[in-house]
Parts: sequence; C-alpha cells; structure tokens
Amino acid sequence: MRIESVTPIFIDRYLFVEVATDTGIVGLGESGAWAFQEGTAATIERFAEYLIGKDPLLIEHHWQYLYRWTHFGGSVVMGALSAIDIALWDIKGKFHDAPVHELLGGKVRDRARVYYHVFGETTDELVDGIADARKQGYTAVGHLTPFTDAPRTEPYFETHAQKITSAVEAVERYRDAAGTDVDLGVEIHRRMSPYEAVAFGNAIEKYTPLFLEDPVLPDNIDEMAYVASKINIPIATGERYTSIWEFQMLLSRSGAQMVRPDVCIVGGITGARKVAALAEALHVAVVPHNPLSPVSTAACLQIAATAPNFLVQEFPNETWGEKGDDRPTPALLVTGAAEHDGKGFVQISDAPGIGVALQPDAAQRYPYRKREILTRLHVDGSVVDQ
Ligand SMILES: [Mg+2]
Repeated sequence: MRIESVTPIFIDRYLFVEVATDTGIVGLGESGAWAFQEGTAATIERFAEYLIGKDPLLIEHHWQYLYRWTHFGGSVVMGALSAIDIALWDIKGKFHDAPVHELLGGKVRDRARVYYHVFGETTDELVDGIADARKQGYTAVGHLTPFTDAPRTEPYFETHAQKITSAVEAVERYRDAAGTDVDLGVEIHRRMSPYEAVAFGNAIEKYTPLFLEDPVLPDNIDEMAYVASKINIPIATGERYTSIWEFQMLLSRSGAQMVRPDVCIVGGITGARKVAALAEALHVAVVPHNPLSPVSTAACLQIAATAPNFLVQEFPNETWGEKGDDRPTPALLVTGAAEHDGKGFVQISDAPGIGVALQPDAAQRYPYRKREILTRLHVDGSVVDQ
C-alpha cells in the first residue's frame, strides 16, 4: 500500500487532512493549531512531498522522520504532524479492519465519561449551562471560567479583591447549580499570576472542583509546579504542549495531577498515547483536550479507550462557539460522530480506524471561516491573556 495524496481541507473553523492510498483506503485527521490553520495547511503540503509514495503503515518511522527533519518545531509543525498521524492511524485501522484502539493493545473500557462543554459570556449563562448539563444526564461540566468569556473588545479591569472574590463567588454558584451529581472543571484560561492562583485555589477548595485548569501561563513549568505545591485541588494543564518532552518536564516537577494532551497538536494518537503512559507511571490522570470537531473527539476516544489512567473526555457539542454562530452539528460534519448516552458517557466505537468520515457536502456547506486576530486589552492598554 502506498500513499497517493495528502490533502488539507478547510471546513468552517477546522482544518482536516485526508491521506489517500492506492488501495482506495482514505485516512482522516485534524489539526489543533486552530489559530494558524493557513500555516498548518502549508506545512501539511510540505510533508506531503515526503509522504507520497511511502507505506502508510510505518507510522512511527514517518513521525520520527518528519519530526527530526529539522530542529524547527512548534504548534504549526506539530499541528500538521498530528493531523497526518491521526490519518495514518485511521488508514492502519481500516487496512486491518479494526478500530485503532484494538491496534493499541485493546480497549480497557467500553464507554468514556465525558464532560459537557459550557460556553457563556456571563456567570448566569454558565450556571444555566450546568443546570442544562445536569438535566441531560452529564456527570461533569468543564470550561467553567469565573472570568467568563466576556467580549474581547471590552477593556478589562478589576481590583485584586474583586478579581479573587467574584471568581470564588462564581465557583460557589457553579456548585449550587451542580449539587454533587456533577463534577466541575474550573477553567482559568491562564488569567492569573501565581500568587493570585494560590489565593483562588485555596479559597475554592471547599467547593470540591474536579480540577483547576491552566491557572497560570503554561510557558513557565516551574511556576505551574509552585502553584500546585501551594493548593490542595488538582491542576489540569498541557493543552498547549506540543511534545512528550514538555509533559515530562511538567510531570517531573509535579506540576499537574491531570494532564491535558491535545491529540491534534501533541503529535497525534502516537504522541498522546505516549503522554498518557508517562502520566500513568506517576499515577497522574489523563483528560484529553478537545475543543475541536468530532474528528478530534474520535481520535481522543482511542486514548480514552486504551489509557488505564483516563479520567474524563472534553466533549464539545452544538453549544460550542460564539453566540449566534451557525456551526455545523457533529452529524452534519461527519458520519459516525460519538453521541452522549444520556448518562454522562459516550460509547467507544468499534468501527475500523477512528470511525468517522467527513460528510461529502460538508466543505461546500460550511466554507472556511478565518478567525479574527483579536486579543483583549486591559483598561491601561496592555494585553490580557483570555
Ligand atoms: Mg483549556
């Protein structure tokens, strides 16, 4: 079997890759460098120059060959490599008429617990989202940001006392809405400095959050570890890391009790599976990051199926996106999309490969929409990370 073509495909806000072979088997993957889709597509086309004519089953070899081709890396290169890796695993599964998880050692669970992905511009909207999730049978809710997803055009200002107090009050409201039936993933989106994160983390301990996500910028692993050492709730981080080596540095410093590899940016199924194994050795849980399409979800579920230390899967649904967006539902984008079972889980698919394929009319129906470059500013004119 030989690779005949490697094609980046833009749909809505997503970037997919289809790898076609001379047997007619086509593999599908997705990139997670969502802010840099054009650059990632160009990198996929460069990688195609190497891949065309090669045996698609030699996944680890191609991964190493492209990763170590030059010393330049980063999210664009790894987004491209991840998308290709997922597509190659999809091909391998279809070639052997087996789900990818079977080729990774076999599934250790039949269902994956998922967390509902709430999006809101106000605490009231987030609280409504928790109530809705509870009604739908979910047992966990994430993307709960006490600073809300306020419009980035709105200049930001709060005093220290306002910032910490209002954030703690927001978490109290989440818990009231959730009861103990629903676990809470509190998402900071890197909007605290270490001293703020320690004050906040200790103040919300009594509300028993499942995790505190990205309390500080992840680019200083020592500071993440400092926060982790000062609070008694688990830190979940890693969505921006593009390699097993960054995760190793995080884990060796006890910087997280839950790792969040993004299968579409950390080197695909190959990279995410290795991160899960690193974490397993330290009794650290895996919560795969997944803010993307049902293709990413299908790839994440291969990790959920096979990692003994998997905890819960981020599961975006139709509510994800800016208000008023006409976003494609999972079924309009792909065939075989994972569905919530009404009890907080999704079934692990036993379909060959990753189990999903693009709907033939999806690209025509949902043309690519470029993201605007828009960063939130403080009232003093400086930049805020939101
Ligand atoms: Mg996050």
